[in-house]
Amino acid sequence: MSEVIYDVAIVGGGLAGINAALRFSEEGKSVLLIEAADRLGGKLRTDADEDGFVYDHGFQVVFPTYEEIPTDFWKMLGTVPKFSKGAVIAGKGLIDQTHPFQSLMTTGSVFDLIRLLKLNFVSKWSADDHLDTTARAILTQSRFSSKFIDTFFEPFLGGIFLDRSLDFSAVQFLKVWRYLHPQGACLLPQGIQQLPDYLSQQLSKRSSVRIQKDSKVDLIETADGFVQVRSESGSYQSRSVIWAAGYSSSIDLAVPVATYPSQGFKSSECLYFASNRPLVNSKHIVLNPTHGALVNQIAPLTNVSPSYAPPGKHLICATILGTQNAGDDELSKSVIADIQQMGYCEPLEFRRRYTVHQAQLAQEPYFWKSTPPIATHLPGVFLAGEITTSSSINDALKSGRLAAEAALTYLKNK
Ligand SMILES: Cc1cc2nc3c(=O)[nH]c(=O)nc-3n(C[C@H](O)[C@H](O)[C@H](O)COP(=O)(O)OP(=O)(O)OC[C@H]3O[C@@H](n4cnc5c(N)ncnc54)[C@H](O)[C@@H]3O)c2cc1C
Repeated sequence: MSEVIYDVAIVGGGLAGINAALRFSEEGKSVLLIEAADRLGGKLRTDADEDGFVYDHGFQVVFPTYEEIPTDFWKMLGTVPKFSKGAVIAGKGLIDQTHPFQSLMTTGSVFDLIRLLKLNFVSKWSADDHLDTTARAILTQSRFSSKFIDTFFEPFLGGIFLDRSLDFSAVQFLKVWRYLHPQGACLLPQGIQQLPDYLSQQLSKRSSVRIQKDSKVDLIETADGFVQVRSESGSYQSRSVIWAAGYSSSIDLAVPVATYPSQGFKSSECLYFASNRPLVNSKHIVLNPTHGALVNQIAPLTNVSPSYAPPGKHLICATILGTQNAGDDELSKSVIADIQQMGYCEPLEFRRRYTVHQAQLAQEPYFWKSTPPIATHLPGVFLAGEITTSSSINDALKSGRLAAEAALTYLKNK
């Protein structure tokens, strides 16, 4: 048992855990951040290979409207590589949210495009108190044509929620739309891990913070006004604990989240292909309108951020919703065949495959009513992370900040 008593031990070094540590250490309190993996960042992970290609573990974008991302991060980046608003519907044309009347309207009618504009205003006010239903129901009630829902919303929202059924929460859909439509979505030049890397750097400058990686926590228990945390690297004592490690396999031992049933998860596959010429000429996401197709959408990464590939090369990411049993060779051939069916015949070289199990929470209507609260039944033990809010970069960061503030208040009143 370590002799040091930390003000807080934070379990899980994803965005929630890192942000909780940042907020806590702002107050000069001592923090121990314990992470099971060999790096911080959790679901925001990027690999780079020896040829100069950059691969995120699953296609992820950041919305510049996310208020929890520090402004200094954007200043450090300078120019932010953004996707163009709207999407290309493979074989059908372009939906441009900025200039809807310039769009090719082969996927819907002029009324759909007007309703799309209206949705931008509706999402501003109705994200919080709206009576929840499914995204499909709200789109139908908003009188979008079934053709437009099929060809645009199914693959577009399907790619965001990893669920093409549109049976997820309308409240969550409108919330995401509110972040998405003002400034669109962007990539980070060095890959999605650039965000946790930046936040971790800020953390490492704080002398009151200790980071312990490669150390899985398997027990949390309270005794004599302190909390004991048992991990692979040893046992620690702290005055409070923030569990930011999700519904992990160690839940049964690490009490706090055990009492909350998981809502279930959505998974995805992401396959990367290189080419000598860009697959498409624009910075739009390319959607696959075909029902039952393998590929849901293609992201032309290097059109948006050339630093995802070495000079002269192009990189795309094809996303499949759910997971596949086929091996890499077989699956990559099927994906190329699908991309050809979508109308793109550029020769593609398969580079990498990432299967992301438990990528996002299944966010069914009213899921937000049953997310675990920050405070647990154990005194001094708090929860953070997407499980307390929703699956998003902004909400994970926010949950960490809120849990830190709850723990700080607890320590003040103790
Ligand atoms: C494929 C994919 C696409 C996504 N797309 C987007 C997107 O485009 N935009 C967006 O805003 N959001 C997106 N998200 C959601 C977003 O990435 C997550 O909601 C967010 O990163 C979750 O952060 P977190 O800190 O709550 O959890 P996590 O990132 O899961 O962090 C939990 C951490 O706890 C650690 N841990 C687990 N058990 C233990 C233990 N017992 N002891 C110690 N450590 C432990 C884990 O190793 C991990 O580092 C996407 C997610 C995925 C996977």
